[in-house]
Amino acid sequence: MHIVVFVKQVPGTENVKMDPETGVMIRSGKDVVINPLDENALTEAIKIKNSRDDVRVTAVSMGPPTAEKALKEAIALGADAGILVSGREFAGSDTIATAKALAAAVRKAGEVDIVICGERATDGETGQTAAMVAQYLDMPVQTYVSAVDVFDDKVIVKRTVERGFERVEVPTPVLISVNKDINEVGMPTLSGKLHAKTVAVDAYDAAGLGIEKCEVGLGGSPTRVVKVFSPKLARDTIMRKADGTTKPVEELVEFLVKKEVLG
Ligand SMILES: Cc1cc2nc3c(=O)[nH]c(=O)nc-3n(C[C@H](O)[C@H](O)[C@H](O)COP(=O)(O)OP(=O)(O)OC[C@H]3O[C@@H](n4cnc5c(N)ncnc54)[C@H](O)[C@@H]3O)c2cc1C
Repeated sequence: MHIVVFVKQVPGTENVKMDPETGVMIRSGKDVVINPLDENALTEAIKIKNSRDDVRVTAVSMGPPTAEKALKEAIALGADAGILVSGREFAGSDTIATAKALAAAVRKAGEVDIVICGERATDGETGQTAAMVAQYLDMPVQTYVSAVDVFDDKVIVKRTVERGFERVEVPTPVLISVNKDINEVGMPTLSGKLHAKTVAVDAYDAAGLGIEKCEVGLGGSPTRVVKVFSPKLARDTIMRKADGTTKPVEELVEFLVKKEVLG
């Protein structure tokens, strides 16, 4: 069984800044960490690996060359291999272009039974990547997964839904996105860290993945960030004294009807 886990490097600081001209996040010089939910995804893959004797785990990350560090951390935690998707042509990729590249990396990894990723990344936070990659790979997708039981040719997942949980049985290959309830994230061991130093990560640019450069990056991204701004919170206060000379309740109701808050 082969499991692929997506590991995204995200800014480790909450002081994230956007370029007001391009609408793109300024990532240079930031402390970077593995997206917290991807640590859950990785932990689950390692848990499955440890529960069976036929499992191989490949971690995949798309980002600058420094994203190799995230893959080495994944290997230190128990992944067997790492694939880095990197190249200048990927800069400016929106979720569609990112999903296309990640799907190509999954194909590069060979036959795959389960793809596991986080429900969302703390920087872009669209939560779109899982479904989009599944679409490109023509795989079923299960989102908001908080437990997974793995069988030879299917998985049974527990999904968090609006009013509780649901259990879904899905044949493999399948892509699942996990939430934080799925497990407790562990720490790499010293031997894991030493082992990671000996494992070379495979790196691919667009050509290496068999993608045209124009399919990724800004050119391959239909999303346009028109404007980036902090919303202004405007607050008005209207004071009415209830001294018998006015009708504050009636006025309030009239005001709310006018504002279409009350019908
Ligand atoms: C117009 C535009 C330009 C952009 N330009 C850039 C840019 O120049 N550089 C840049 O870094 N980002 C850029 N982005 C952001 C980039 O598109 C998103 O980071 C990416 O599409 C993932 O979306 P998300 O963060 O919302 O992930 P979500 O959908 O919230 O993440 C879900 C899960 O998908 C997986 N995942 C997502 N992205 C990756 C990844 N890169 N590697 C591995 N796993 C992943 C993770 O497991 C994650 O938990 C741009 C976005 C737009 C709209």
